[in-house]
Amino acid sequence: MRFADLAAAYDRLEATKSRLEMRHRLADLLRPLRGDELAIVLYLSQGLLRPEYEGVELGVADSLARRAVALATGGEDAAIARAAKASGDLGRTAQELLERRRATTGARPLEVGEVYEAMRAIAAASGEGSQDVKVQRLAGLLERASPLEGRFLVRFVLGTLRVGVREMTILDALNEAFADGAKPSRAAIEEAFNLSSDLGLVATTLAGGGVAALATIGLEVGRPVRPMLAEREPTLEAVLARMGGRAALEFKYDGLRVQAHVPRDGPVRLFSRRLEEIGAQFPELGPELARAVRRPPAIVEGECVPLDLDTGEIQPFQDVARRRGRKHDLDRVAEEIPVCLFLFDVLLDGGTAVYGEDFPSRRARLERLVRPTERVRLAEQKVVDSPDVAKEFLDEAIAGGGEGVMAKSLKEGSAYRAGARGYWWIKYKRDYTVGLSDSIDGVVVGAFHGRGRRAGRFGAFLLAVYDPGRDRFESFTKVGSGFDDAALAEMPKRLARWASDDPPASVDTGVAPDRWFRPGVVLEVRGAELTVSPVHRAALGRVRAGAGLALRFPRFTGRYRDDKGPTEATTSAELLEMYRRQVRQAAPEEPDAPAET
Ligand code: ATP
Repeated sequence: MRFADLAAAYDRLEATKSRLEMRHRLADLLRPLRGDELAIVLYLSQGLLRPEYEGVELGVADSLARRAVALATGGEDAAIARAAKASGDLGRTAQELLERRRATTGARPLEVGEVYEAMRAIAAASGEGSQDVKVQRLAGLLERASPLEGRFLVRFVLGTLRVGVREMTILDALNEAFADGAKPSRAAIEEAFNLSSDLGLVATTLAGGGVAALATIGLEVGRPVRPMLAEREPTLEAVLARMGGRAALEFKYDGLRVQAHVPRDGPVRLFSRRLEEIGAQFPELGPELARAVRRPPAIVEGECVPLDLDTGEIQPFQDVARRRGRKHDLDRVAEEIPVCLFLFDVLLDGGTAVYGEDFPSRRARLERLVRPTERVRLAEQKVVDSPDVAKEFLDEAIAGGGEGVMAKSLKEGSAYRAGARGYWWIKYKRDYTVGLSDSIDGVVVGAFHGRGRRAGRFGAFLLAVYDPGRDRFESFTKVGSGFDDAALAEMPKRLARWASDDPPASVDTGVAPDRWFRPGVVLEVRGAELTVSPVHRAALGRVRAGAGLALRFPRFTGRYRDDKGPTEATTSAELLEMYRRQVRQAAPEEPDAPAET
C-alpha cells in the first residue's frame, strides 16, 4: 500500500465527527489489506508501532522533529519553531513547508511498509549518536513525502496523530470489513482482543480465517490479558442479593493491580492494569513469584500493596505509588518500601487456560498452584450467605488494611471475563454508605488560568467522564481544590503532550476553558454531591432534558490515575448510577428505593 493512500485516509478520518461514518471509512481502508500490512496499518492508526503493551516508544522530541523538517525542506529551525508554535501543530507546519517545496520533488513514492521500517529504526536507535540517526531517518522520509504525507509523518513521530480512532471503533470496523457486522461476530472479535491485547493479531487472524479462526487466539505468557472489572452496589445486602444470596468475599486491597506472567524458563513479567510492563519497579517480586508458583507456565492476578514486613501490616497506598515510574535506586526503594502481592485469580495454570472455568474452580486451582511466601500470598477470602456474616468480614477486611471487600460470584458462568465490567465481581467500599464519598476518575480536557496566588499557572481543570456508547468525553466538573504547589507545577508537564488548539472532537462540554487538552490524563476526585447542570454534558438528558450531571465541590485526592487510560475513567453511566443512588439515599421513600433495613 502506498503511504499516500493511508495519509489521504487519515485526512478524511480527521475530518469525520460521526462515529458511524468513521467506522465505515476505517472499514473501507482495512478491507483490501491482509497479513503484515493490515497489522501495520492498525498499529500506525493508533499511533503505535507494536501492540501497546510492548511499550515501543519512538523517542522523538519536538526539537528533533523540527531538525528533520528543517533538513528536508531547507527551512530554518527558528522560523519552523515559530510557525509550529503559532499553529500548535508541527505536522501542519511541515505540510505547509513541503507545499512550497513541491515543484522540486519527483522521488519514488513512499510505501507503508518502508515507512514502518523507518519508524522501527527510529524507535530502536539509542545511545550515542542516536539523535542524529533519528533525524536522518525522518528527514529521509520527509524528503520523499507529499505535503499531506509530511503532516502525518511528523505527527506520528510526535505521538499526536489526531486521527481520533479508538479501539472500540476499530473493533466495529473490523467486524464490518471482515465479518458479517452482526453482534455475535462483534463479541467474538472483542473477546479475541481482550485475551490478546493485540489488534494487529486479531485483525490478521480475522481477515485470514474469518470469525471461526479467532478461537485460535488464546493466552500466551508475556502477552497481557485485559483485566476483568467490577461493578458496585450501595449495600452489602444488595451485593448478596445480586449474587443470589451467596458469594465469596475477599479483602479489597488498595494498591496496584498486577498481572503476573510466570514462564517455565526465563524471567517473570508483571503488567499493570493498563498492560504496561512494571516488573522493573518491583524487582523483588519476580524471583519470589517464580518460587511461589508450583506449575509454570502460569498467569495469575493480584493486588500489590506496601507491607511492613516486621509487623505484617499493610501500609498506605501512597507508598507503593512512590515506586511507580521510578527508574533509579530501585533496589534501595525495594528495601525501604517492601511490597506484597495478594493473588486473587488464575488464568493460566500449568499451561492450561482456565479463565473460562467458574470462579470456585479457579480459586481452588489458585490455592493448589501457589505456595505462599513472605511477599506472595493469597487474598483473604470467605464464602458468605448472610449480610451479618458479610458485615463481620468487612470489619475484618478494614481492620486488616483493606479498603472494603470484593464480592465474587460463585454461580455457573462466573468465568474470568477479560476486559469486561459486570456483576460477577462487585466492589464494596465501606464509605459507600455515607453519601457520595466514592471517588470519580475524571479525564482532564481543559484548564483555566489561575488568579491571585495562582496567577501565571493553571488554577483549575475541566474534567470529563467517558461514554463508551458515544465514544465521547463529557465534562462534569471544574476542579481547583486539592492541588498543592507541587501538583500545580506538575500538571502542565503531565498535560503538555495532550495540548490541543481546538476543542477536541471527542470532547463534549458547554464550558469554554482557557486551554484544551485531548483526553490523556486521568485524576481521582471526590465531591460533595451530583447535581443537574446546564453547562456540563455528562449523561446529557438522562435526568432532565437538555441538562447534564455535575459534581459539586470537587477536590483532587492527590492520586494521579496513571494506571488508567482515558477510556478507563469513570463512565457517564456510572456517574448516572451514583446520582440515582444519591437521590435514593436522600429520599428513601422514592418508589424505586431498594428495600433497606
Ligand atoms: P475499576 O478497576 O473497577 O475501574 P479502580 O481501578 O478505580 O476501578 P476500584 O474501584 O478500587 O479500582 O476497584 C477495583 C480494583 O480493586 C481492581 O482492579 C483491583 O486492582 C483491586 N482489588 C483489590 N483487591 C481485589 C480482590 N480481592 N479481587 C479483585 N480486585 C481487587
